[in-house]
Amino acid sequence: MERIKVKSIGVLALQGAFREHIDIIKLLGHKGREIRKVEDLSSIDGLILPGGESTAMGKLLIDFNLKEILMEKSREGLPIWGTCAGMILLAKEIADDKVIHLPLMDITVRRNGYGRQLGSFKIDGIFKGIENKIPMVFIRAPYIERVGKGVEVLGEIEGKIVAAREGNLLVTSFHPELTDDLNIHRYFINMIDR
Ligand code: GLN
Repeated sequence: MERIKVKSIGVLALQGAFREHIDIIKLLGHKGREIRKVEDLSSIDGLILPGGESTAMGKLLIDFNLKEILMEKSREGLPIWGTCAGMILLAKEIADDKVIHLPLMDITVRRNGYGRQLGSFKIDGIFKGIENKIPMVFIRAPYIERVGKGVEVLGEIEGKIVAAREGNLLVTSFHPELTDDLNIHRYFINMIDR
């Protein structure tokens, strides 16, 4: 069997669906680390910003003094993946909100982009570079309205961008941690050391 190099993946654990990400990281043979304070960030190889409520999480980032250091770590090249609310946190622009949290990725996102009726749904979709369609769970999800030049679109559902990458940053509107498909977690872990 191929030996894997064990990586330490931090998951921001201030609020939201962080435990599910940690469980999948462990399933894949890596170490999952809950991040609540600045010290927790030392010696991680990648970081996941989970789904939850972006306004609350954004405020907590400031209260816990995590905002500046996360900006710095990203500029140094730390791979960061934002799922759903995590994607909102990483966007340089939010279509319907003036408060920007970690202006790192050159995208404009629209919060709750599917309206109230379509608040939650599941669909199988194509993710660039993954052979089979993967299950995508959307929960009051944002979508990407605009991507900058350096941003690669990785997934679209009904004409709306739901996954993208810019260098060390990955975002998905949907929640791979709420399915048993491990592909997107594998994709993210492969972004480390490249
Ligand atoms: N609607 C939430 C927000 O705007 C995101 C929902 C989620 O992360 N599942 O922050």
